[in-house]
Amino acid sequence: MSDYFKNRPSKCNSEYTSPDQIILCPDHNQSLYCHLLCGLVQRDEVVRVGAAFAFVLVRAIDFLEKHWKELCSNIRSGHVSEWITDLEGRNAVSTILRGPDSILADVIEQECSHKSWEGIITRLWPKAKYIDCIITGQMSQYIPMLEFYSNKLPIVSTTYGSSESTFGMNVDPLCKPQDTSYTCAPNISYFEFLPVDHKGDMASIVDLVDVKLGCYYEPVVTNYFGLHRYLIGDILQVTGFYNNTPQFRFVHRKNVVLSVRSETTTEEDILKALNHVGLVLESSDLMLMGFTCYADISTFPGHYVFYWELKAKDVQDVFELEEKVMVKCCSLLEESFDEVYRKNRSKDECIGPLEIRVVQQGTFDSLMEYFISQGGSIAQYKTPICINSSEALAVLENKVLARFFSEKSPPLDS
Ligand code: AMP
Repeated sequence: MSDYFKNRPSKCNSEYTSPDQIILCPDHNQSLYCHLLCGLVQRDEVVRVGAAFAFVLVRAIDFLEKHWKELCSNIRSGHVSEWITDLEGRNAVSTILRGPDSILADVIEQECSHKSWEGIITRLWPKAKYIDCIITGQMSQYIPMLEFYSNKLPIVSTTYGSSESTFGMNVDPLCKPQDTSYTCAPNISYFEFLPVDHKGDMASIVDLVDVKLGCYYEPVVTNYFGLHRYLIGDILQVTGFYNNTPQFRFVHRKNVVLSVRSETTTEEDILKALNHVGLVLESSDLMLMGFTCYADISTFPGHYVFYWELKAKDVQDVFELEEKVMVKCCSLLEESFDEVYRKNRSKDECIGPLEIRVVQQGTFDSLMEYFISQGGSIAQYKTPICINSSEALAVLENKVLARFFSEKSPPLDS
C-alpha cells in the first residue's frame, strides 16, 4: 500500500500479469480471482508463476480448481463476474480482457477438464520456466504438491527475510528445494548471531564474520532504523561460504515444539515425520493440503493431535478415507519421532496414541481467515505448525470429519 510501491519505476510494471489495482484490492478473494483471470488471459507471456510463500500458491491452485468454469465463462463473454465489486479492480481487469475470446476459453476449459491436475501449471502457462516462492522451513510441506502441479519445474526459493529486513538471498537458485541455503548479504542490515545453546544472555553473540561452519544460531538483526535489535526467533545452520559471506540453511522456528512429557518435538521433527507419510498418501492418491497440530494434555495420558485437510489427487475423484491408510499414517508419524517420544509412548505409556483428525476441505482457509481477522497480513500468512490458541482450535474442531488413532506403540529402535 506504500507510495514506494505505487510509484516504483515503470520498468517493474511489466513484472506481473496483474495491474496494481488487483494487487492492492483489499478483498483477497476478489483479488485472487482477478489475478487468475489476468494470468490466464496473458498466458503466453507468463514465464514465472509464484507467490511470496508456497502456501499462497497452493491455495491459488485450489481456488482455480473451484473457479475455472466461471473464469472460462468470463473469458468467453469478455465480462467480469458480477461479484467482483471492487470498482478499480473491475475496470483494470476489463481492460485486460479486451472483449470475448472463445478460442482461449476453449483451450483453458480443455486443460482444466482433465481428470488429473498433474502438470496444470505447465499446461495453462506453457512458457513458465520456474516456480518462484519460498519453499524452505515450514513451506517445505508443499514441495510434493507444487512438483505435482508443475510437472517438476524448478522451484526457486529466492529470499529469506522478514518484516524487519531481508536477511539473505539464494545464490544457487536452481538447486533442489531441499538444498536451499541463503547467503546473508552483510550490507542489508547489521547481523549478529546467538549460538542456540546460549544461556539466555547475549554474551555469547557473534558477528557475521565469526559464525562457524555446521553450527546453529539464532539471528539478531538491527536494520537501518537502528532503534531495535530484533531477536528473529529462527534457527539457522551455517552450510558454507560464498566468497567470505556465510550461507545458512533455515532449520526451524524457535519454540515451536510439541511436548506432552519430557520429549521435545520441534518443527523440523514434525516436518520430517510428515515427509515419511508422503509415500503412503501418494499411493492412496491423496494430497495433504494443510495441517497443524497440538499436544492435548487435557486427559491422561496426553497425546499429539494432528489436524489434516486432505484432497484426492484426481480432481473428479470422490474423496474417500480408508481407515487402514489413516491408521498407518498415525503409526508412521510416531515411528519418525525421536527416541524420547517413543520411549515415553511405548515403555512408560505416558504419551497416548497419536491422533489424526481429518477436517473438511476449506478448513485451513477458514483458519487463515480467522488469523487475518485478528490483524494478520495475508501475504505473510503461514499456517502455524502448532496451535495453542483455543479460538483457533475451535475453528478446526467445528470442521472435524473423522478421527483416527495409532493402534500400536512405535518400536524403540526405529
Ligand atoms: P514476517 O515478518 O511475518 O514476514 O515473517 C518472517 C518469518 O517468516 C521469518 O522469521 C521466518 O520464520 C519465515 N521466513 C521468511 N522467509 C523464509 C524462508 N526463506 N524460509 C523459511 N522461513 C522463512
